[in-house]
Amino acid sequence: MDNTSSTFDESKWSSLKKDLKKTVGDSAYNNWLKNLNLVSLINDTITFSVPTKFLRDWIVNNYSDKIKNDSKKHFESVDIIKFVVKPTGGRIVPGTARTIKSTDNHWKSSMDVRSTQLSNYPNEFGAPLDPRFTFDNFVVGKPNELAFAASQRVSEADKITFNPLFLCGGVGLGKTHLMHAIGWKIKQKQPERKVIYLSAEKFMYQFVRALRYKDTSAFKEQFRSIDVLMIDDVQFISGKDNTQEEFFHTFNALIEQNKQIVISADKSPTDLDGVQERLKSRLGCGLVADIHPTTYELRLGILIEKAQKRGVEIPPKVLEFLSHRIISNVREMEGALNRLVAHATLVGTPITIDTAQLVLQDLLKSSNKKITIEEIQKKVAEHFNIRITDMHSPRRSRSVARPRQIAMYLAKSITSRSLPEIGRKFGGRDHTTVMHAVKKIEELKLSDVNFNEDLELLKRLIDS
Ligand code: ADP
Ligand code: MG
Repeated sequence: MDNTSSTFDESKWSSLKKDLKKTVGDSAYNNWLKNLNLVSLINDTITFSVPTKFLRDWIVNNYSDKIKNDSKKHFESVDIIKFVVKPTGGRIVPGTARTIKSTDNHWKSSMDVRSTQLSNYPNEFGAPLDPRFTFDNFVVGKPNELAFAASQRVSEADKITFNPLFLCGGVGLGKTHLMHAIGWKIKQKQPERKVIYLSAEKFMYQFVRALRYKDTSAFKEQFRSIDVLMIDDVQFISGKDNTQEEFFHTFNALIEQNKQIVISADKSPTDLDGVQERLKSRLGCGLVADIHPTTYELRLGILIEKAQKRGVEIPPKVLEFLSHRIISNVREMEGALNRLVAHATLVGTPITIDTAQLVLQDLLKSSNKKITIEEIQKKVAEHFNIRITDMHSPRRSRSVARPRQIAMYLAKSITSRSLPEIGRKFGGRDHTTVMHAVKKIEELKLSDVNFNEDLELLKRLIDS
């Protein structure tokens, strides 16, 4: 604490915390505000710290009004609230402050120092393309030939032939791969065209954020300069009415301006649940290209290609065996190949059907079965020795909250359920809670090797 701070005292801070807890409710408080700390109160500026950027943005977008109101009750002079990022046990990270000021009767938020204007959306908008996902690396067969040809057409044409291109197919069949491939091709051939790829979840998040900033015009502005817009996994916008509304308008505006749109989903437009009829019909008005489940031939083709790319010699018999036995999706097949190669290199044994059977035991057994959220909850609860009812309960203590987050994360990565669907299965939690859980676990996976290993083990237990 800086000693220029005025009437800062601990007891006021404690009572402010108590008020916040009352204002937002216990569960929201424990989820989001528990790690909020008071850094300083200098003149009219009160500064709080939170451990991560994600949390900072979340709090600014969702709770800044409430924090402002409650702060004013305890610290009358407050007119500006600042949130900085300070990792647990670390120092404040420079340049991370977000400031909220009251101007007249409404409060405006801005990033510190550099851009006091509107926002930092444009930089954060869109997601990078994965260099592995190109047309060259895509193996074409009967099940995906239409989707492949249509994607190529979209990436080559200077004239728009079908709009939107709607790629639909189950998990792990190459939708994302094709969208990235379109992106790469356009970048290469017509670098002046502006291509944006993002997930529907990210679209939603950005939109909700714009609403909070009361700044949807800036949100829309971003789309204006785009030539090609690709939105992945639109099944996740189901149920979100105002996001759908916005999506619909953005969509129409772009189509009218002759911009190319590419959409993917795990279902055809007409089968999308919880999506408004007019949006469904708009989505289906271009070309709907199905990616069908893989055939034996396609699987074999993909395996041969992937083995070649990795420069490993795998006996044809083994590749045939794998193509017969691992039928769920391409992602799983790639995983199997990786594991097999890793095993062979580490242990130094040749790759045979026997070793494949041994190393891939779990995969081979489960490849025909669909894993449900309930099964995941059960396995995770067993693993952590908690009650399965804790998966649905509102309890927040870490001993149950972390396993619950892990189960949510696994549900998201193993099943094809949407965030709202997953939330419902965890005691009717909001999709944002699930999104937060997924983020959290992803962070932990990256920062903690042991945690990552534990998670892999758990995944394997669930698969078997
Ligand atoms: P989806 O988005 O449909 O769930 P992805 O595009 O993420 O699936 O594909 C899953 C994995 O399988 C990726 O690593 C992708 O490269 C690979 N894959 C899928 N289909 C093919 C294919 N036809 N040829 C080569 N790789 C493929
Ligand atoms: Mg995908």
